Amino acid sequence: MENGSKKWGFQANKSLSTSSAITVRGVLNLLLDKLNKEDRRQVIPLAHGDPSAFPCFRTTPVADEAVADAVRSAKYNHYAPTVGLLPARRVGPSKDFIVTETRGPHIWDPLTRLETFKIVVDNACKKKARKVFIRVFLRKSVADYLNRDLPYKLSPDDVFLTIGCTQAIEITLTVLARPGANILLPRPGFPYYEARATHSHLEVRHFDLFPEKGWEVDLEAVEALADENTVAMVVINPGNPCGSVYSFQHLQKIAETARKLGIMVIADEVYGHLTFGSTPFVPMGVFGSIVPVLTLGSISKRWIVPGWRIGWLVTSDPHGILQDSGELAGHDGSKTFVVESIKACLDISSDPATFTQGAIPQIIENTPKDFFSKINNILREAADICYEKIQDIPCITLPHKPEGSMFVMVKLNLSLLEGIDDDMEFCQKLVQEESVMILPGITVGMKNYLRITFAIEPSALEVGLERLKAFYERHAKKQ
Ligand SMILES: *Cc1c(COP(=O)(O)O)cnc(C)c1O
Repeated sequence: MENGSKKWGFQANKSLSTSSAITVRGVLNLLLDKLNKEDRRQVIPLAHGDPSAFPCFRTTPVADEAVADAVRSAKYNHYAPTVGLLPARRVGPSKDFIVTETRGPHIWDPLTRLETFKIVVDNACKKKARKVFIRVFLRKSVADYLNRDLPYKLSPDDVFLTIGCTQAIEITLTVLARPGANILLPRPGFPYYEARATHSHLEVRHFDLFPEKGWEVDLEAVEALADENTVAMVVINPGNPCGSVYSFQHLQKIAETARKLGIMVIADEVYGHLTFGSTPFVPMGVFGSIVPVLTLGSISKRWIVPGWRIGWLVTSDPHGILQDSGELAGHDGSKTFVVESIKACLDISSDPATFTQGAIPQIIENTPKDFFSKINNILREAADICYEKIQDIPCITLPHKPEGSMFVMVKLNLSLLEGIDDDMEFCQKLVQEESVMILPGITVGMKNYLRITFAIEPSALEVGLERLKAFYERHAKKQ
């Protein structure tokens, strides 16, 4: 090196840029670069799923107040009791006053809870007590929320709070990535799974979803792909990117297939309860006694606060197979240590901000039903607009009307277009000419499809789809 200095000893880890090559964010940035600055019209964002900017999707005031209360209370200025669940576990339900007291009838009363909490801490006169208590308290509220839909009861010990569903995915894949292992992912899917799995050296194998059958899982493909090193399959329901909602029967078949293969199910239910068609939402955890399920979720989508970064990873596992000492841990009595490993992984991870954790019980318990039905009604209206307008655009077809989540996948018929070779080119030209952003299907694993987000103000959605039609008419192949 010049100046007689030593060669630099550092260099970046190049594997990072390859494992994140196909992220939604990367493609969004690429599309943003193509926007025509001269076009004075409103940009119509149909590419990403974050409706929080639209007034009609404003979260409930209950959530705003819960966070404000948590901040003002000054009770959540400390480090979160990260290191997870360890403090809560160490105390243990049987030998400590804290858990005993939380069973008292009035302690969970939403109005008196904070006072009661104070009494417990004061009585305890122990520094650790406060931390332990909060953790049990917050997790109880997520457990209660999920218990409403389950045939058995989750305990707070089954719940791990995470920084959004994103960190729940990260922890899950890190825990499962033992050397040589592989995981089965849906195609189309949510590319963060691919990126994270690759980053953890977990081999990815894809099974297809059937567009014509409501994007159901190709279970024969799942069976053909699995081998003795397969650890799990991922099911995203309600579906991103397809807008699908699986029936009870289909979910049960998935559970039975996974059990037969000896693999767990990772159920991404970040869109849980965001349904507006004829199929009701059934959580995968309902089948937890057939196969162990890791349920991943967050408040990001249902409460439309993706920036608040709070989610959960839950073991929906009534037989305790994921525990180090479950009744059926491993068919042959061997132990899986999954829970232990989740805790170890959380020990070396960052936590969701303490005040958002502090707001969770109030958010979950006090959000009025009206808020949820209002959001689902807007989504239904938007999905209907999408469905109708797409019928008028010959180059795209909708294999299945969306019944949940915020997205729909449409098939692109390139033979009807002049001078457009694939979905990526379609989306780039569309954003340049019409200031409408749509995600190319390749980003979510399906070339020459498009993923359209309908979770925007319905009037803006109409404008966006009209521009899409104008774009088609300009590029239609002359007969
Ligand atoms: C948005 C999304 C996530 C991430 O959720 P956050 O709570 O924002 O981290 C995970 N999985 C799917 C399928 C998503 O669409």
